Amino acid sequence: MATLEIRDLHVTVEADNATKEILKGVDLTVKQGETHAIMGPNGSGKSTLAYSLAGHPKYTITEGTVLLDGEDVLEMTVDERARAGLFLAMQYPVEIPGVSVSNFLRSSATAIRGEAPKLRTWVKEVKETMEQLHMDPSFAERNVNEGFSGGEKKRHEILQLELLKPKIAILDETDSGLDVDALRIVSEGVNRVRETGAVGTLLITHYTRILRYIKPDHVHVFADGRIAESGGPELADKLENEGYEAYVKGGASA
Ligand code: ADP
Ligand code: MG
Ligand code: MG
Repeated sequence: MATLEIRDLHVTVEADNATKEILKGVDLTVKQGETHAIMGPNGSGKSTLAYSLAGHPKYTITEGTVLLDGEDVLEMTVDERARAGLFLAMQYPVEIPGVSVSNFLRSSATAIRGEAPKLRTWVKEVKETMEQLHMDPSFAERNVNEGFSGGEKKRHEILQLELLKPKIAILDETDSGLDVDALRIVSEGVNRVRETGAVGTLLITHYTRILRYIKPDHVHVFADGRIAESGGPELADKLENEGYEAYVKGGASA
């Protein structure tokens, strides 16, 4: 069983000629087969956690460790992280001119598996997965992220997740900008991956509504750069009813 272990993670960013500490000691363990939700107010550092795990150059790790099966993730290049089995949707947020979705998926799968997937089974797998995500076949021929709508970006993200079969997946705001139908379709994709039992998922979100479709095993409240509380699915219900007020410094006035 693969395990992602985040210990005492501190992260800073440079903004307006000053160094600002955003993550202030994050501790979290995600195992293959588990679904964790990280929920928290805007600006609490959730995306910073995701970017830091993805190796985004803007974020400096000043303290702490991140291990995947005992291997130091922070020492790995972005490609090495993917090959080690980490899926970070925000890794390729940019347009890739001249590279179609279809080619992108196949070269990603080749890099991760160490060999090219057999063409016939691959084509079938891509087609079926796209159908399940209600994606038009022509989408495969479009250039990666070029003019993608918010909903198309999210579906593309889940398409990658289903096809690349990582050990640990980190999904940031997979629910943002989706209408109810798209949210359901995207959630079904996450649930299909989950049912394989082979993926540990870290679902990062501000809103509780995606948790009506994806039932997490563990819920963590993120506030001011660290995990303020952890619990089971009942914690998500509490957040839905009471919001984040209790976790924000100075309460409602902050
Ligand atoms: P969340 O995803 O929980 O809304 P973020 O991680 O996006 O929170 O942001 C946390 C804090 O860090 C915010 O105050 C934000 O302005 C700041 N921050 C995040 N990334 C950067 C960056 N690249 N440059 C400057 N400030 C940043
Ligand atoms: Mg934000
Ligand atoms: Mg965010």
